[in-house]
Amino acid sequence: MQDSAQVVIIGGGIVGCSTAYHLTKMGWKDVVIIDKGELTSGSTWHAAGLVGQLRSERNITRMLQYSVSLYDQLEAETGFATGWKMSGCLHLASTKERMYELKKGATTARSFGLEMNIITPREAYDLCPIIDLDGVIGAAYMPTDGEADPSGITQALAQGARSRGAKIYRNNLVTGFEFDKNRVTAVKTKEGLIKCEILVNCTGMWGYQMGEILGINIPVVPFMHQYAITNPIKDLPPKLPTIRDKDNLIYYKEEVGGLVMGGYERNGIPWAIDGVSNNFNSNLLDSDFDHFIQLAEPATKRTPCLEEAGIRKLINGPEGFTPDGDAIMGPAPERDNVFVAVGFNAFGIAAGGGAGRMMAEWIIEGEPSLDIWPLDIRRFGPYHRSRRYNVERTAEIYGKHYTIHWPAEEHDSARGIRRSPLYFPLKEKGAVYGAKYGWERANWFAPQGVAAEDDLTFETPNWFEHVAAEHKNARENVVLIDQSSFCKFEVQGPGALAFLNRLCANQIDKPVGKVIYTQMCNDRGTIECDLTVGRLAEDRFLLVVGTAFGQRASWWINNHMPADGSVFVQEMTSAYAVINVIGPKSRELLQKLTNADVSNEGFAFGTCKNFTVGYAPVTSFRVTYVGELGYELYIPTEFAVHVYESLWQAGQELGIKNAGYRTIASMHLEKGYADWGSELTPEYSPFDAGLGFCVALEKDDFIGKAALARIKTEGARLRLCTFTIAAETPLMLQSSAPVIYKGKVLGVTTSSGYGHTIKKNICYAYLPVEAATAEQGYEIEVYKKVYPARLESSRVLYDPARKRILM
Ligand SMILES: Cc1cc2nc3c(=O)[nH]c(=O)nc-3n(C[C@H](O)[C@H](O)[C@H](O)COP(=O)(O)OP(=O)(O)OC[C@H]3O[C@@H](n4cnc5c(N)ncnc54)[C@H](O)[C@@H]3O)c2cc1C
Repeated sequence: MQDSAQVVIIGGGIVGCSTAYHLTKMGWKDVVIIDKGELTSGSTWHAAGLVGQLRSERNITRMLQYSVSLYDQLEAETGFATGWKMSGCLHLASTKERMYELKKGATTARSFGLEMNIITPREAYDLCPIIDLDGVIGAAYMPTDGEADPSGITQALAQGARSRGAKIYRNNLVTGFEFDKNRVTAVKTKEGLIKCEILVNCTGMWGYQMGEILGINIPVVPFMHQYAITNPIKDLPPKLPTIRDKDNLIYYKEEVGGLVMGGYERNGIPWAIDGVSNNFNSNLLDSDFDHFIQLAEPATKRTPCLEEAGIRKLINGPEGFTPDGDAIMGPAPERDNVFVAVGFNAFGIAAGGGAGRMMAEWIIEGEPSLDIWPLDIRRFGPYHRSRRYNVERTAEIYGKHYTIHWPAEEHDSARGIRRSPLYFPLKEKGAVYGAKYGWERANWFAPQGVAAEDDLTFETPNWFEHVAAEHKNARENVVLIDQSSFCKFEVQGPGALAFLNRLCANQIDKPVGKVIYTQMCNDRGTIECDLTVGRLAEDRFLLVVGTAFGQRASWWINNHMPADGSVFVQEMTSAYAVINVIGPKSRELLQKLTNADVSNEGFAFGTCKNFTVGYAPVTSFRVTYVGELGYELYIPTEFAVHVYESLWQAGQELGIKNAGYRTIASMHLEKGYADWGSELTPEYSPFDAGLGFCVALEKDDFIGKAALARIKTEGARLRLCTFTIAAETPLMLQSSAPVIYKGKVLGVTTSSGYGHTIKKNICYAYLPVEAATAEQGYEIEVYKKVYPARLESSRVLYDPARKRILM
């Protein structure tokens, strides 16, 4: 084996080979793949080979769409047989909720020109005359889905990489690494040492244990996954599409005159959770017929020919699954030069082509061309280090692989991990909790006599009217919202100001006591992080970031830290609980409990101040996330219950209520505020998002300044628009709904919900600037139904100061 390479990829499955294929295609030739066995000898060789494109996230579907376009020409390019057939995929629905889901998929697919047709049961039968239509109420057909020979595709990708210079070393176990501080400098293998500049971990279900050696947390859990291969079926029609009958938890594909049939049982079986043997090469597990029967029984009803043919073989192959059902990709936060692409949750063949391209772009260009945050390794938090958490949650997610994904659905396993000090007091008052980033957060409060639980529905949910009441109280009186899950960092030291001014697009050099809303941008001038910064002292700042983005923010901050020791960064999330006091009577309430002047003159909007509330010291930011008069109280954790009790008691005569995150969502839409992860992502610049006022181009050099100056001069290409839809009943709006004008899709929705003050459905969407000029004539498609939408001239739909609806 050679003794050095620019990039070493561990793992010669489809993902490792695709990464090498795309790296070399983009011009990097000095690429090496090392596998402990033969190529494909992990999960790839025994995959069933269905290549579906539809996922719930728009950009992941686009990534899979790229796989299809690649597989369509790979055989011609490399001369290797790939078995690729664009056979189409038939999705069956036996419930009205499943129809909603199919319509949602078809609507999303339309947003980027992917064909997915809603069809009748009869049309489904015509496409696939082996199915029994009993119970089927509708279907969808995706003509460009297909099937492939997983080994053939992988060998073709490897050949493509090889032909452009990549080297592949098989039967060579990677045993360890040499490090220099945070960098991997060399890979230790059975056949010797190989130095590298960049390491890519593509070890599939071995990802977790490889992560342990690398000092990287990779929450992959291997699960058994079975499918049956039937004997040849007499008169099986040619050109059958693949089938997904998710209400029965099963899938099918045609295979040499018979069928492959598998599925996702509710009680999946984890395997080798402490580590998969390195000798597990091209192996299978023992077939488990008793376990498989729960899938086989409905399958014989849906396709009676299966029973006649009988099962020839039951394949039981393990595969890496993850606690949220999405793959794990991107730069490992714990190391400076290690990338990860593992845990493909049984869609690695479908994802492989696109995933390899995303990885190559990430490595060479610093960012993938699609924002694939749901797959980004930085989405995981410290609690994902718990193997117990990962196994329990992955088991639930495996069992829900084919079940309906309800709007606002929460999960049941591994709950109660991160609880604010107010968890129990709020529970007593009817809090209905959801989980975000491990935190239990009150979504809404069930009044006495109302069951404290969510209905799962695609129609108006049971919590709707109670959220409306919380919202009303926030507009008319005062509410308390526990926002302790905010991620907080303290940045201090003699270099702190200069450091933050280099990271942030806004001017941070403001007087002590100011609160600054800002974005951190990358060199392309697009958004990496959205935060507020409170200047607590000349050299001390409190940074507040959304709950789920702490890991990403801290990665960005730490990656840009000066080496001279002049800046010290400390995460303070657990140190401060946060109570948000919101509403026109919030000032009166707070004033009852403090000697500090909290009037507008004494405590202006956009400033911060230290004072006491009751017996407790607090730092308060005079900002809110919802656009009402309000105060965020940052309270040393042990004082939080006391502050809450004091506010609650003093607020009785002011009509105080508790409110939850669903009220926040409704109010912040009416205020026109944008959200990190939805509107604010590396795909968009602050100018696209209407946040040009947060870009201080007059200040000295900062990251992204040149690009932002150019965007400002040339003009933003996109505009973040607010649409309202007047409908007879509130709509459960889906994400990524197409916005249509004169029959043409101009953009897709990013956030949406119901504005309880303006009594309309609200959607945000980016539109090309030149297309965002009319007021009427737009349409938004939701679950295949088209609604007229109005483009509002103002992003702010309600002005609390004047109590006026601005539309
Ligand atoms: C039964 C079954 C059916 C499936 N059906 C489908 C399907 O129809 N469609 C679909 O899209 N997906 C399907 N999948 C999923 C798909 O097989 C996987 O997602 C995909 O193969 C993962 O590819 P990978 O490259 O990430 O991992 P792998 O193929 O597992 O490759 C990882 C490689 O890393 C190597 N490695 C690990 N540790 C080391 C080490 N220390 N040193 C050197 N090398 C190492 C291994 O030898 C292995 O070759 C199925 C999976 C199973 C189990």
